[in-house]
Amino acid sequence: MSISNSGSDETTLISISLDMLSKKWDIDPIVRDLHLGKRIDLQDYQIKVNQVTFHIPYVINSSLFLLWDCLWPDCHNCCDRQGRLPLTVDDIAIISKALGYKNKSDFITNETYVASWDNNSTVNSDNSKLISTLTMINLKRKTDETENDDGKPLSCRFLDDLGFCNLHPDKPGVCWLYPFFSWSQYENNRMSVHASFQLTGDCPGFYMSKNIDDKMMTILNDYSIKIHDYTMNVNTTVREGFGRIDLN
Ligand code: SF4
Ligand code: SF4
Repeated sequence: MSISNSGSDETTLISISLDMLSKKWDIDPIVRDLHLGKRIDLQDYQIKVNQVTFHIPYVINSSLFLLWDCLWPDCHNCCDRQGRLPLTVDDIAIISKALGYKNKSDFITNETYVASWDNNSTVNSDNSKLISTLTMINLKRKTDETENDDGKPLSCRFLDDLGFCNLHPDKPGVCWLYPFFSWSQYENNRMSVHASFQLTGDCPGFYMSKNIDDKMMTILNDYSIKIHDYTMNVNTTVREGFGRIDLN
């Protein structure tokens, strides 16, 4: 769901999103600064839950962690300002069936488009970022969506007036993951899965806390399973030719 742009463009978009969010929700000034990359007293606190290493921002001078909880049904902003819905092979099988398609090729022709974007979530084994381009089949968020709409926030066509998703529970894997993003990397000759928060400015659920509390641990535990399965499925999608990652 993240919208990948670069440098100041991305910061401007996040700032605009935060201003829109602030009209309805109180945004902690530290949360805002973290979104805009304004804190340099940051530590990457890593915590392994099941098979996923979570990277939680820790603000050193304030001794506070950035944590998250979902405010649905009071909020459905992530579906109202959806950036893109990339599909894995499993997503294609599940959603084509849910939409009543007998074969996947008709589903792909009618309901999806292909787009490429800079992927800033790939990380080298020394933790430096890899610049890569990701090409994936994406579910249309509006019936006449084209590649030109990719990355632009749109209200998803499956969102109803009460904030329910008409595709649930057959929604794309990225919807289950939000507001986390994930990546895989080789460590000691094994594939390992990592995750962190997407700070796009569209989610009011972030808050600062002195401790990683029980509520957050329950969330990490729950998401670790979804994130691991999803990330492995992205690898399968690329391997089977339904998507591609090009290292620049
Ligand atoms: S924007 Fe955040 S708080 Fe709102 S529904 Fe989505 S994940 Fe939950
Ligand atoms: S598919 Fe459902 S969960 Fe995903 S963005 Fe659309 S309405 Fe939201």
